[in-house]
Amino acid sequence: MAHQPGDKIPDMGTLFLTATPIGNLEDMSLRGMRILREVGLIAAEDTRHTRQLLTHFDIHTPLISYYEHNKLTRLDTILAALSQGDVALVSDAGTPAINDPGYELVKAALAAGHSISPVPGPCSPIAALVASGLPTDSFLYLGYLPRKTSERKALFERVGKLPYTLIFLESPHRVLESLADMQVFLGDREAVAARELTKLFEQFIRGTISQVRAHFLQNEPRGEFVLVIGGQVESSGEKWSEPALLAAIDKSILDGKKAKEISAELSETSGWGKKEIYALVTKAK
Ligand code: SAM
Repeated sequence: MAHQPGDKIPDMGTLFLTATPIGNLEDMSLRGMRILREVGLIAAEDTRHTRQLLTHFDIHTPLISYYEHNKLTRLDTILAALSQGDVALVSDAGTPAINDPGYELVKAALAAGHSISPVPGPCSPIAALVASGLPTDSFLYLGYLPRKTSERKALFERVGKLPYTLIFLESPHRVLESLADMQVFLGDREAVAARELTKLFEQFIRGTISQVRAHFLQNEPRGEFVLVIGGQVESSGEKWSEPALLAAIDKSILDGKKAKEISAELSETSGWGKKEIYALVTKAK
Protein backbone atom coordinates (compact mmCIF):
# COMPACT_ATOMS: atom_id res chain seq x y z
CA MET A 1 0.00 0.00 0.00
CA ALA A 2 1.50 3.35 -0.94
CA HIS A 3 0.98 6.39 1.25
CA GLN A 4 1.52 9.98 0.30
CA PRO A 5 3.52 12.16 2.67
CA GLY A 6 1.13 13.75 5.16
CA ASP A 7 -1.62 11.11 4.74
CA LYS A 8 -3.26 10.33 8.05
CA ILE A 9 -3.28 6.57 8.38
CA PRO A 10 -5.75 5.37 11.00
CA ASP A 11 -4.39 3.02 13.69
CA MET A 12 -0.95 2.87 12.19
CA GLY A 13 1.87 3.25 14.63
CA THR A 14 5.18 4.94 14.01
CA LEU A 15 8.52 3.21 14.51
CA PHE A 16 10.91 5.62 16.26
CA LEU A 17 14.59 4.79 15.74
CA THR A 18 15.89 6.25 18.96
CA ALA A 19 19.58 6.95 19.55
CA THR A 20 20.96 6.37 23.05
CA PRO A 21 24.26 7.42 24.68
CA ILE A 22 27.57 5.78 23.65
CA GLY A 23 29.16 6.34 27.04
CA ASN A 24 27.79 9.52 28.55
CA LEU A 25 24.23 9.51 29.88
CA GLU A 26 23.99 13.28 29.42
CA ASP A 27 23.85 12.63 25.67
CA MET A 28 20.32 11.18 25.89
CA SER A 29 18.15 13.73 24.12
CA LEU A 30 15.03 15.28 25.65
CA ARG A 31 12.99 14.11 22.67
CA GLY A 32 14.46 10.62 22.94
CA MET A 33 13.40 10.43 26.60
CA ARG A 34 9.89 11.65 25.82
CA ILE A 35 9.48 9.14 22.97
CA LEU A 36 10.74 6.25 25.15
CA ARG A 37 8.22 7.29 27.81
CA GLU A 38 5.27 7.70 25.42
CA VAL A 39 5.51 4.69 23.08
CA GLY A 40 3.59 1.49 23.88
CA LEU A 41 6.65 -0.75 23.48
CA ILE A 42 10.43 -0.47 23.24
CA ALA A 43 12.26 -3.06 21.15
CA ALA A 44 15.78 -3.29 22.58
CA GLU A 45 18.94 -5.09 21.55
CA ASP A 46 19.56 -6.10 25.18
CA THR A 47 16.61 -5.60 27.51
CA ARG A 48 18.73 -5.76 30.69
CA HIS A 49 21.07 -3.08 29.38
CA THR A 50 18.21 -0.85 28.25
CA ARG A 51 16.35 -1.43 31.53
CA GLN A 52 19.28 0.28 33.31
CA LEU A 53 19.04 3.27 30.99
CA LEU A 54 15.26 3.49 31.48
CA THR A 55 15.59 3.19 35.26
CA HIS A 56 18.08 6.06 35.24
CA PHE A 57 15.52 8.26 33.48
CA ASP A 58 12.56 6.90 35.47
CA ILE A 59 10.90 5.43 32.35
CA HIS A 60 8.67 2.37 32.75
CA THR A 61 7.67 1.43 29.19
CA PRO A 62 7.45 -2.34 28.44
CA LEU A 63 10.48 -3.84 26.70
CA ILE A 64 10.88 -6.64 24.17
CA SER A 65 14.18 -8.01 22.89
CA TYR A 66 15.21 -7.46 19.30
CA TYR A 67 18.77 -8.61 18.67
CA GLU A 68 20.96 -10.07 15.95
CA HIS A 69 19.76 -13.67 16.37
CA ASN A 70 16.02 -13.14 16.82
CA LYS A 71 15.63 -10.10 14.60
CA LEU A 72 13.76 -11.99 11.86
CA THR A 73 11.50 -14.11 14.08
CA ARG A 74 10.56 -11.03 16.13
CA LEU A 75 9.32 -9.03 13.14
CA ASP A 76 5.69 -10.24 13.37
CA THR A 77 5.43 -9.41 17.08
CA ILE A 78 6.80 -5.92 16.56
CA LEU A 79 4.61 -5.32 13.48
CA ALA A 80 1.58 -6.41 15.54
CA ALA A 81 2.58 -3.91 18.26
CA LEU A 82 2.93 -1.22 15.59
CA SER A 83 -0.63 -1.86 14.43
CA GLN A 84 -1.73 -1.02 18.01
CA GLY A 85 0.44 2.05 18.52
CA ASP A 86 3.94 3.54 18.42
CA VAL A 87 7.09 1.50 19.03
CA ALA A 88 10.66 2.69 19.71
CA LEU A 89 13.73 0.74 18.66
CA VAL A 90 16.94 1.18 20.64
CA SER A 91 20.30 -0.57 20.51
CA ASP A 92 22.79 -1.02 23.35
CA ALA A 93 24.44 2.27 22.46
CA GLY A 94 24.30 4.81 19.68
CA THR A 95 22.07 4.87 16.64
CA PRO A 96 20.00 1.76 15.85
CA ALA A 97 20.62 0.16 12.43
CA ILE A 98 24.20 1.45 12.29
CA ASN A 99 26.09 -1.83 12.82
CA ASP A 100 23.22 -2.73 15.10
CA PRO A 101 19.87 -4.45 14.41
CA GLY A 102 17.26 -2.27 12.75
CA TYR A 103 17.50 -2.45 8.97
CA GLU A 104 15.20 -5.47 8.55
CA LEU A 105 12.64 -3.98 10.94
CA VAL A 106 12.62 -0.66 9.07
CA LYS A 107 12.07 -2.50 5.77
CA ALA A 108 9.27 -4.66 7.19
CA ALA A 109 7.58 -1.70 8.92
CA LEU A 110 7.68 0.34 5.71
CA ALA A 111 6.24 -2.57 3.73
CA ALA A 112 3.41 -2.84 6.26
CA GLY A 113 2.62 0.86 5.77
CA HIS A 114 4.00 2.27 9.02
CA SER A 115 5.84 5.56 9.37
CA ILE A 116 9.45 5.58 10.43
CA SER A 117 10.82 8.50 12.38
CA PRO A 118 14.44 8.97 13.45
CA VAL A 119 15.25 10.36 16.88
CA PRO A 120 18.86 11.35 16.17
CA GLY A 121 21.63 11.41 18.72
CA PRO A 122 24.94 9.70 19.50
CA CYS A 123 26.57 7.74 16.69
CA SER A 124 30.19 6.70 17.21
CA PRO A 125 31.38 6.85 13.56
CA ILE A 126 29.98 10.36 13.13
CA ALA A 127 31.32 11.54 16.50
CA ALA A 128 34.78 10.23 15.53
CA LEU A 129 34.67 11.79 12.08
CA VAL A 130 33.66 15.29 13.14
CA ALA A 131 36.37 15.47 15.81
CA SER A 132 39.05 13.75 13.71
CA GLY A 133 40.30 16.82 11.88
CA LEU A 134 40.07 14.89 8.58
CA PRO A 135 37.81 16.13 5.75
CA THR A 136 34.12 15.73 6.55
CA ASP A 137 32.67 16.87 3.20
CA SER A 138 32.58 13.35 1.80
CA PHE A 139 33.23 10.15 3.68
CA LEU A 140 32.67 6.42 3.45
CA TYR A 141 31.54 4.45 6.49
CA LEU A 142 32.43 0.77 6.21
CA GLY A 143 31.49 -0.67 9.60
CA TYR A 144 33.73 -3.30 11.20
CA LEU A 145 36.95 -4.17 9.40
CA PRO A 146 37.12 -7.80 8.27
CA ARG A 147 39.05 -10.14 10.59
CA LYS A 148 41.44 -11.67 8.06
CA THR A 149 44.32 -9.90 6.33
CA SER A 150 43.25 -11.34 2.93
CA GLU A 151 39.76 -9.84 3.36
CA ARG A 152 41.14 -6.52 4.58
CA LYS A 153 43.45 -6.43 1.56
CA ALA A 154 40.50 -6.98 -0.80
CA LEU A 155 38.54 -4.21 0.93
CA PHE A 156 41.43 -1.74 0.88
CA GLU A 157 41.98 -2.45 -2.81
CA ARG A 158 38.31 -1.61 -3.48
CA VAL A 159 38.37 1.68 -1.60
CA GLY A 160 42.04 2.69 -1.73
CA LYS A 161 41.72 5.03 -4.69
CA LEU A 162 38.61 6.85 -3.49
CA PRO A 163 39.05 10.47 -2.41
CA TYR A 164 36.76 10.09 0.61
CA THR A 165 37.62 9.93 4.29
CA LEU A 166 37.22 6.31 5.41
CA ILE A 167 35.60 5.33 8.71
CA PHE A 168 35.92 1.87 10.26
CA LEU A 169 35.00 0.23 13.55
CA GLU A 170 37.63 -2.03 15.06
CA SER A 171 38.04 -4.16 18.15
CA PRO A 172 41.01 -3.31 20.42
CA HIS A 173 42.54 -6.77 19.80
CA ARG A 174 42.91 -6.15 16.07
CA VAL A 175 43.82 -2.44 15.96
CA LEU A 176 47.57 -3.07 15.56
CA GLU A 177 47.18 -5.65 12.82
CA SER A 178 44.63 -3.62 10.93
CA LEU A 179 46.78 -0.48 11.03
CA ALA A 180 49.71 -2.52 9.72
CA ASP A 181 47.62 -3.78 6.80
CA MET A 182 46.33 -0.28 6.11
CA GLN A 183 49.85 1.04 5.90
CA VAL A 184 50.77 -1.65 3.38
CA PHE A 185 47.63 -1.51 1.23
CA LEU A 186 46.49 2.11 1.57
CA GLY A 187 49.86 3.75 2.07
CA ASP A 188 51.02 5.71 5.10
CA ARG A 189 48.11 8.17 5.13
CA GLU A 190 46.70 10.42 7.79
CA ALA A 191 44.87 8.47 10.47
CA VAL A 192 42.97 9.11 13.66
CA ALA A 193 42.11 6.50 16.27
CA ALA A 194 39.13 7.73 18.30
CA ARG A 195 38.94 5.86 21.62
CA GLU A 196 36.28 5.76 24.31
CA LEU A 197 34.28 8.63 22.81
CA THR A 198 32.24 10.69 25.30
CA LYS A 199 33.66 8.64 28.21
CA LEU A 200 36.06 9.64 30.98
CA PHE A 201 39.15 8.49 29.05
CA GLU A 202 38.16 9.76 25.61
CA GLN A 203 41.25 10.03 23.44
CA PHE A 204 42.20 10.88 19.85
CA ILE A 205 45.51 9.63 18.48
CA ARG A 206 46.32 11.56 15.34
CA GLY A 207 49.18 11.18 12.87
CA THR A 208 50.11 8.98 9.94
CA ILE A 209 49.00 5.34 10.06
CA SER A 210 52.53 4.28 11.07
CA GLN A 211 52.66 6.92 13.84
CA VAL A 212 49.28 5.86 15.23
CA ARG A 213 50.45 2.24 15.13
CA ALA A 214 53.72 3.16 16.87
CA HIS A 215 51.62 4.75 19.64
CA PHE A 216 49.71 1.51 20.17
CA LEU A 217 52.90 -0.56 20.18
CA GLN A 218 53.84 1.47 23.27
CA ASN A 219 50.33 1.67 24.75
CA GLU A 220 48.19 -1.44 24.59
CA PRO A 221 44.93 -0.67 22.72
CA ARG A 222 42.01 -0.82 25.15
CA GLY A 223 38.35 0.18 25.01
CA GLU A 224 36.14 1.00 22.05
CA PHE A 225 37.60 2.29 18.80
CA VAL A 226 36.68 4.05 15.61
CA LEU A 227 39.43 4.46 13.00
CA VAL A 228 39.22 7.44 10.64
CA ILE A 229 41.58 7.32 7.67
CA GLY A 230 42.35 10.00 5.08
CA GLY A 231 41.08 9.48 1.54
CA GLN A 232 43.40 9.05 -1.44
CA VAL A 233 45.15 12.32 -2.20
CA GLU A 234 47.33 13.18 -5.16
CA SER A 235 50.63 11.49 -4.31
CA SER A 236 53.04 14.09 -2.87
CA GLY A 237 55.85 11.82 -4.00
CA GLU A 238 56.99 11.82 -0.37
CA LYS A 239 58.95 8.73 0.57
CA TRP A 240 58.05 6.83 3.73
CA SER A 241 60.64 7.10 6.49
CA GLU A 242 62.89 4.05 6.85
CA PRO A 243 61.33 3.04 10.23
CA ALA A 244 57.84 3.22 8.67
CA LEU A 245 59.00 1.03 5.77
CA LEU A 246 60.73 -1.44 8.11
CA ALA A 247 57.57 -1.76 10.23
CA ALA A 248 55.55 -2.58 7.12
CA ILE A 249 58.21 -5.08 5.99
CA ASP A 250 58.17 -6.81 9.40
CA LYS A 251 54.38 -7.18 9.25
CA SER A 252 54.53 -8.61 5.71
CA ILE A 253 57.23 -11.10 6.74
CA LEU A 254 55.11 -12.16 9.71
CA ASP A 255 52.22 -12.70 7.29
CA GLY A 256 54.45 -15.20 5.47
CA LYS A 257 54.95 -13.18 2.31
CA LYS A 258 57.92 -13.70 -0.01
CA ALA A 259 60.51 -10.94 -0.63
CA LYS A 260 59.36 -10.47 -4.23
CA GLU A 261 55.71 -10.00 -3.22
CA ILE A 262 56.65 -7.61 -0.42
CA SER A 263 58.81 -5.42 -2.64
CA ALA A 264 56.12 -5.32 -5.37
CA GLU A 265 53.39 -4.36 -2.87
CA LEU A 266 55.32 -1.77 -0.92
CA SER A 267 56.90 -0.10 -3.94
CA GLU A 268 53.34 0.90 -4.98
CA THR A 269 52.75 2.96 -1.85
CA SER A 270 56.03 3.74 -0.09
CA GLY A 271 57.95 5.76 -2.68
CA TRP A 272 60.85 3.28 -2.32
CA GLY A 273 62.14 1.27 -5.28
CA LYS A 274 61.58 -2.48 -5.58
CA LYS A 275 65.30 -3.26 -5.37
CA GLU A 276 65.81 -1.15 -2.25
CA ILE A 277 62.86 -2.85 -0.57
CA TYR A 278 64.01 -6.30 -1.67
CA ALA A 279 67.41 -5.66 -0.08
CA LEU A 280 65.82 -4.54 3.19
CA VAL A 281 63.53 -7.59 3.23
CA THR A 282 66.47 -9.96 2.73
CA LYS A 283 68.33 -8.21 5.55
CA ALA A 284 65.32 -8.38 7.87
CA LYS A 285 64.63 -12.10 7.25
N1 SAM B 1 25.18 1.83 16.51
C1 SAM B 1 26.39 2.17 17.23
C2 SAM B 1 26.65 3.66 17.08
O1 SAM B 1 25.83 4.37 16.50
O2 SAM B 1 27.69 4.13 17.61
C3 SAM B 1 27.55 1.30 16.80
C4 SAM B 1 27.34 -0.13 17.26
S1 SAM B 1 28.67 -1.21 16.99
C5 SAM B 1 27.94 -2.74 17.43
C6 SAM B 1 29.72 -0.95 18.37
C7 SAM B 1 31.07 -0.37 17.94
O3 SAM B 1 30.95 1.05 17.80
C8 SAM B 1 32.20 -0.56 18.95
O4 SAM B 1 32.83 -1.83 18.80
C9 SAM B 1 33.15 0.56 18.57
O5 SAM B 1 33.90 0.25 17.41
C10 SAM B 1 32.14 1.68 18.23
N2 SAM B 1 31.85 2.46 19.43
C11 SAM B 1 30.72 2.43 20.16
N3 SAM B 1 30.81 3.29 21.20
C12 SAM B 1 32.03 3.87 21.11
C13 SAM B 1 32.72 4.84 21.88
N4 SAM B 1 32.19 5.38 22.97
N5 SAM B 1 33.97 5.22 21.48
C14 SAM B 1 34.53 4.67 20.37
N6 SAM B 1 33.91 3.75 19.62
C15 SAM B 1 32.70 3.36 19.97
